[in-house]
Amino acid sequence: MNQDWRGNLIRRLLLLLGACLLLGLATGQYAWMLVIGLSGYLAWHLKQLLRLHEWLRNRQTNEPPPDSHGLWGEVFDSIYHLQRRDQKARDRLQAVIDRVQESTAALKDAVIMLDRDGNLEWWNLAAEHLLGLKTPQDGGQPITNLVRDPRFSEYLESNNYAEPLELPSPTNDRRRLQFHITQYGNREHLMLVRDVTRINQLEQMRKDFVANVSHELRTPLTVISGYLETLLDNVEQINPRWLRALQQMQQQGGRMQALLNDLLLLAKLEATDYPADNQPVAVDLLLLSIKNDAQALSAERNHRISLEADAAVKLKGSEAELRSAFSNLVFNAVKYTDDEGDIRIRWWGDEQGAHLEVRDSGQGIEAKHLPRLTERFYRVDSSRASNTGGTGLGLAIVKHVLLRHRARLEISSRLGHGSTFTCHFPNTQAVRRGSR
Ligand code: ADP
Repeated sequence: MNQDWRGNLIRRLLLLLGACLLLGLATGQYAWMLVIGLSGYLAWHLKQLLRLHEWLRNRQTNEPPPDSHGLWGEVFDSIYHLQRRDQKARDRLQAVIDRVQESTAALKDAVIMLDRDGNLEWWNLAAEHLLGLKTPQDGGQPITNLVRDPRFSEYLESNNYAEPLELPSPTNDRRRLQFHITQYGNREHLMLVRDVTRINQLEQMRKDFVANVSHELRTPLTVISGYLETLLDNVEQINPRWLRALQQMQQQGGRMQALLNDLLLLAKLEATDYPADNQPVAVDLLLLSIKNDAQALSAERNHRISLEADAAVKLKGSEAELRSAFSNLVFNAVKYTDDEGDIRIRWWGDEQGAHLEVRDSGQGIEAKHLPRLTERFYRVDSSRASNTGGTGLGLAIVKHVLLRHRARLEISSRLGHGSTFTCHFPNTQAVRRGSR
């Protein structure tokens, strides 16, 4: 094809030169005829070039290029085909974009794209309802200007998005939103926001139900336990056949009371996000009093309980909550360690934060149970647990209290070789003497 056009062009040029020479022969003016012929040829090419230039500058979309013949006709045709192909590709891409936009617009969840600095790049319709984003004014704005909760900024900057974040909606306090963030490309963020108000309400109803039942059961149980105590106080007037039954009733009543107290405590821990009283707690003194209580609990079982605590390291948080978490760990060590066993309590601080370790020389726990220990009512061995009078809620309370104090629980244990429960508190919770 190319060869064809090159040949064609040369042929035409030779034809033109031949015609000019013929005219030159007829008139005797060779040079003039050649000049006139070639100038005409050049003028025609320039005209075509100008038409092309004109069309490129003023062309409307889809307007075909001008008509011509010869080489220029071929050039214009090729440009026209390229233009059609380009248009088709653009139409196809636009159709894909339209479908993606339509489907994301139909989503009930908000989809938001943020650049690497956390500025808004694109969002769907649901984002306008859930977060109150405005199109197009909010484009390019930092997302933290629109979702103003400090927990959100902290979450966005943490770069740790393994767990979603739940917050009230910035447009309506009664709505709860769940934020999922995924990083992609060049540290850009894709954010999905779901309305979890309904799930939250159901969860709240469950919590309220447990809290209300526990609360309502407390009064009748107190009355029954009170009468049992009075009866047992007057042991000499009781038929001896009833004595054992009454003693067992009192023991089980005590267990039920402990269970209700633990359920109420858990309900209270779940009801609020973060302890209201956030004063530095003297953990060494707290542990000393827990150690004394543990010694009393151990009584004639004679455990050797040691305490090593750094008085210079304090902990921001709720003293009552920390007491119940730490005493659960220490009392468990007493309950699940054979008589005269060793229990070591250690409290110290280092560059990672502050740590509490409760180590015992007890029966230990099989590895398969470790991940489930903090579940409510999870017991390694229910017969063993019922002897110890445990409620099965102790470690669930520990987990909740630690979560509220931004700490985590590490459990390591081997069957027959004792267990170690360690609470790791971050530096933000620790207060060191002189650095307050
Ligand atoms: P419980 O009230 O039954 O002690 P927890 O939630 O405190 O409930 O503990 C759950 C289970 O974990 C217990 O039933 C027990 O089997 C096991 N466990 C907890 N602490 C220890 C420990 N120090 N040594 C061995 N087993 C333990």
